[in-house]
Amino acid sequence: MNIHEYQAKAILKEYGAPVSRGIPVFTAEEAEKAAHELGGPVWVVKSQIHAGGRGKGKFKELGAEAKGGVRVVKSVEDVKSSAAEMLGNTLVTEQTGEGGKQVNRLYIEEGAAIEKEFYLSMLIDRETSRVAFVVSTEGGMNIEEVAHDTPEKIITFSVDPATGVQPHHGRTVARALNLSGDLAKQAGALVNQLYAAFTDKDMALLEINPLVVTKDNELKVLDAKVSFDSNSIYRHADVAALRDETEEDAKEIEASKYDLNYIALDGSIGCMVNGAGLAMATMDIIKQYGMEPANFLDVGGGATTEKVTAAFKIITADPVVKGILVNIFGGIMKCDVIAQGVIQAVKDVGLQVPLVVRLEGTNVEAGKKLIGESGLNVIAADDLDDAAQKIVKAVKEAA
Ligand code: GDP
Ligand code: MN
Repeated sequence: MNIHEYQAKAILKEYGAPVSRGIPVFTAEEAEKAAHELGGPVWVVKSQIHAGGRGKGKFKELGAEAKGGVRVVKSVEDVKSSAAEMLGNTLVTEQTGEGGKQVNRLYIEEGAAIEKEFYLSMLIDRETSRVAFVVSTEGGMNIEEVAHDTPEKIITFSVDPATGVQPHHGRTVARALNLSGDLAKQAGALVNQLYAAFTDKDMALLEINPLVVTKDNELKVLDAKVSFDSNSIYRHADVAALRDETEEDAKEIEASKYDLNYIALDGSIGCMVNGAGLAMATMDIIKQYGMEPANFLDVGGGATTEKVTAAFKIITADPVVKGILVNIFGGIMKCDVIAQGVIQAVKDVGLQVPLVVRLEGTNVEAGKKLIGESGLNVIAADDLDDAAQKIVKAVKEAA
């Protein structure tokens, strides 16, 4: 689960990390009030969307000359007019895709005088099963580019969970960023604060780009992106409360209500599968036959008719879906339950695209019989290979 920059900074502040003073707002009037409260003389007006690259982003509704989604301004009037310009408009950045994201909230911050910009992130390194730090002097810019062109400028290390973060980790960061004296001390403190926040809150990613040294020789977190391990949210009510559903895929929200493992993708073939492994294999084989899956969907081992109906509705409601492949191996799940769910869903919402159903396992004969007698226009398939070929062919013919 992702959160907004201002929410991430509020968490980091709880742990003592240095962030600028700021106030989240929803209207231009609130922005003006916030600007007065912060006092200036420099403010930063920051679009709050769940995507990076805002500074270099462009608003769809404004001309090419208009400024981006992060603006450093020097008067209360400019805070207000920038806020009015950004709110309600669509910001397109390198990370949003062409559609962009509507800006509904802003963060008004006290402006910092930047001396240097660094990069610092933390993530779970799956290879070592540890929390890893990634640090670079090349902050502010595209870190992927740095990794590609000058990989030696990126320093990484991981923390042994048995000992936790140690003073030498702080020194490693300070050395990587060429910091000495008091700034090195600040880096040490920051490493402790970030590690505590990361592990306490079950973060999956914490990215600070840029981490800056100000003209007053202070280390400061100028931007913060945080995502949490979704499987841990149940034990963090405070984190759950930060969820902004307007930033999420509506289909994924609907799926989560039914406890379905669903992820929207870019392709055109909707998939309904039980079991994550089978779902992955189904996606692979669709690609092998030349098309792309529209989603990952694991309905789980013990799905009910209601759950299957909900899953099918989510798939059919997606306009990019040009064909549907239902691939079920009945183990705990019974094929006749799946069949009933599919039949019910088609009755409820209709079926505008080709549907291939492959059932195997427990109660397969009962399932096939139900579908056969339903009068639905279903293409039956015998195995995975056959099913993938049939749905690809049907979609191509229908196009
Ligand atoms: P992003 O573009 O979405 O990554 O948003 P950032 O929060 O990183 O802001 C983009 C850029 O705006 C930063 O890299 C800084 O160069 C600049 N910026 C952000 N906050 C301040 C500030 O307080 N003072 C100054 N001078 N520049 C800032
Ligand atoms: Mn940034």
